[in-house]
Parts: sequence; C-alpha cells; structure tokens
Amino acid sequence: MRCDVVVVGAGPGGSMAAKTAAEKGLRVVLLEKRQEIGDPVRCAEGVSKARLSSMIKPDPKWIAAEVKGARLYAPDGSSIVMSEDKSGDEVGYVLERKIFDRALAMDAARAGAKVMVKTRALDLIRANGSVKGVRAMRYGEIIDIEADVVVGADGVESKVGRWAGIDTSLKPGDIEVCAQFLLYDKSIDDEYCEFFLGNELAPGGYVWSFPKGEKLANVGLGVIGSRSEPGAPVRLLRRFVERRMPEARIVEMVVGGVPVSGPIERTVADGVLLVGDAARQSDPITGGGILNAMEAGIMAGEVVADAVSSGDTGVEGLMAYEKRWRESIGKQIARHLDLKEFFIRLSDEDLNNLMHSIQSEDVSKMDLRGMLRVLIRLNPKMLWELRHLVM
Ligand SMILES: Cc1cc2nc3c(=O)[nH]c(=O)nc-3n(C[C@H](O)[C@H](O)[C@H](O)COP(=O)(O)OP(=O)(O)OC[C@H]3O[C@@H](n4cnc5c(N)ncnc54)[C@H](O)[C@@H]3O)c2cc1C
Repeated sequence: MRCDVVVVGAGPGGSMAAKTAAEKGLRVVLLEKRQEIGDPVRCAEGVSKARLSSMIKPDPKWIAAEVKGARLYAPDGSSIVMSEDKSGDEVGYVLERKIFDRALAMDAARAGAKVMVKTRALDLIRANGSVKGVRAMRYGEIIDIEADVVVGADGVESKVGRWAGIDTSLKPGDIEVCAQFLLYDKSIDDEYCEFFLGNELAPGGYVWSFPKGEKLANVGLGVIGSRSEPGAPVRLLRRFVERRMPEARIVEMVVGGVPVSGPIERTVADGVLLVGDAARQSDPITGGGILNAMEAGIMAGEVVADAVSSGDTGVEGLMAYEKRWRESIGKQIARHLDLKEFFIRLSDEDLNNLMHSIQSEDVSKMDLRGMLRVLIRLNPKMLWELRHLVM
C-alpha cells in the first residue's frame, strides 16, 4: 500500500493531523490499533469551550455537559470559584470522548483519509537510511504502508518516536499516574468542575470531579510518579470517594498516565513528526492534552502538506512544525512546567495560606496568570521566584 502520509493513532491529535493533510489533497492513511476508536476512554473529558470551538464546531452529540466554572479547594476545604471562560483548557465542556474521538476520525475519513482500525504499527520502514512508511499488523497479517512522512500520534506510550531515534523516555517525576471512576452521586455539582488540592489527597497532583449531567461525574486523581507506589492512585481515589460520597455508585473505572514533563527536546526526525501526548505536549499543571494535541495535529497536517508538495520530507522540510508549535502552545507549556515544579513542592499549610490570601479578592473573572499575579503581590516572599511568569 502506498500513500503520502501515514498517521499512527486515531486520538484527537492523529485524527486532526489526518483530516488536515487529507483536506490539503494528500493521500492519508490513519492507523488505530483498537477496534473501536475512542474506547476505552482514559480521560476526564474536560475542555475549554472557546478553544475547542476555534478548531471544530461543537456538536451536542459529543457534549455530555456544559459547566459554569471551576471550584478550587485547598486542603483545609477553603475554596474559590473561577468562571468557565477563565478556568483554563479543561473547563467548559465535558465531552463524551467515545463519541468525540470517533467523530474526529469520521471527519478525517470524510476529508479523504483511509482509516484502518485494528491495525497496530509495529515499526518504521526505512530505505537508504530514510523513513519510508510503517510496518503494521492487521487482522494477524503483517502489512507495509509506504509513505513519505509518518506522524506519530500514538499517545503517552508512544513508540513511533523511539523507533525514529527521538528520546521520548519519561522519568517517574515526569508522569502523573491517574485513576478515575465514572460515578453517580447525589452530591455531584452538575454546574461546576471541582479541583481538590492536598498532599494527603493526591501527592503532587489533585483530585477532580467533572460533571457529565444528572449527578454523573468523572471523579479521578493523579499522583506524581516519583511520589506514587503500585496501586496508590486507586487506593487514594477509593478513600476520597468513601469519605466524601459514601453512597456513590461507581459504574466505570480507568487508570492511565499523563505526561507532565513538558515537551521533549525535538519532535521531528527525518520523515517523522510527533503530535500530542506522543510529543509530551500535554499541560504540565493540569495534565490536559486534548486541545494541544488537536492544535498540534492541525499544524502537523499543514506542514506535512507543504513538505510533500515541495519534495522535502526530511528534517529540514518538517522543521516548520517544531517551530510553529513551540511558538504557540509551547510557550504556555513551558510556563506551566515552571509553575508545576514550584507548586508540587508546597506543603498543605502553604496551599492553605495561599488560598486564604486570595479569598478576599474577586478572582471569578481572573485567568490563571491574573490569579498568579495577585498571589505574588499578596505573598511576595513565598512566590518571588515565579515573578518572571507574569511579566
Ligand atoms: C485519567 C486521565 C484524565 C484526563 N483528563 C483530561 C481532561 O479532562 N482534559 C484533557 O484535555 N486531557 C485529559 N487527559 C489527557 C488526554 O486524554 C490526552 O492528552 C489526549 O488524549 C492526547 O491525545 P493524543 O491524540 O495525543 O493521544 P491519545 O488520545 O492517547 O490517542 C493515541 C491513539 O493511538 C493509538 N495507538 C497507540 N499505539 C498505536 C500503534 N502502535 N498503532 C496504532 N495505533 C496506536 C491508541 O490506541 C490511541 O487511540 C486525561 C488523561 C488521563 C489519563
């Protein structure tokens, strides 16, 4: 089989890359190892309304709920409320990713991409030292898909990068290990996403509750890998749920990892580029990665189209991708990496003090940067080293 570009992984990043490249007239093959795109869901499914809408028209079929904002709790229970449009990239819509991911792949198919499910990439094909496609397993058979460019959008456990000689390794401190229940409980606030901080609750991470309507919610937590141990995320989540919502009915459980390392050193190799979690483009503070993966996927599709039409699909030809995403989403990722490194060192007492200091301010219309500016003003000694992030 021969095409211009083969995209490995039909998550949000891969489907957007495939759709964009197909719209530009390229012959695109999109591979997905699972038999059903989007299932199982390993995600709390929260995204910002405005940013999602800038890339795709919202469709009620894949929106489980819309929220008014976010409530953030310190370890002692004190809290602040932020409005939906200022709460960051994970607050606004709560998606139904089983339907959403499939819809994105269908859009790619409509644009002309050939979608192949139950097809697992096994390795890259090389000719004269250059990448020339992907070897894959489909229904127990090995197939070769020749292409000028391979887009690795194969998620947190990405192998495409490694095959291409890019160092994608993650240290324990670079990953949040997560557990999540989809549960029903009368106490769920259907109108707000909730975030609970505390070293007892979730060391180096946080607990979230993202409502999906009618008292159903994704309730989960992430623990920084360097402070976790086998089974810890599930144990901590069970404890949180038993204490706060003892009557909860759990209908689904997932475990998974989120890279919080900030991006890898390079995301482009000869004939290869990496997108989304494979490129470690998720937000180091929240672990959210849907929108960054989609945006990077669009940029990848555009750059690949230019590279194929100019006949330069080597590192030089693809470098525009690396430049573009680092100058856009990369800037926020870098800022949030600094913030994360600082905040995971704070004690519960520090977190409580910060929360108390800002409670008398009107934070409802502030974004994270604005809030940080106020926090630095109110707690100059503690937060002095973060001042460069708000200048
Ligand atoms: C518990 C949890 C909660 C989260 N909550 C949120 C949230 O609320 N908001 C948010 O924005 N982000 C959230 N995230 C992160 C978000 O899920 C990811 O950042 C996002 O899915 C990344 O998209 P992607 O396209 O890069 O990769 P993925 O969505 O992981 O897609 C990769 C695809 O590649 C396929 N694949 C892998 N290897 C191969 C192969 N060899 N051959 C063929 N196919 C392959 C996989 O099956 C998969 O379908 C959460 C993550 C976790 C674990």
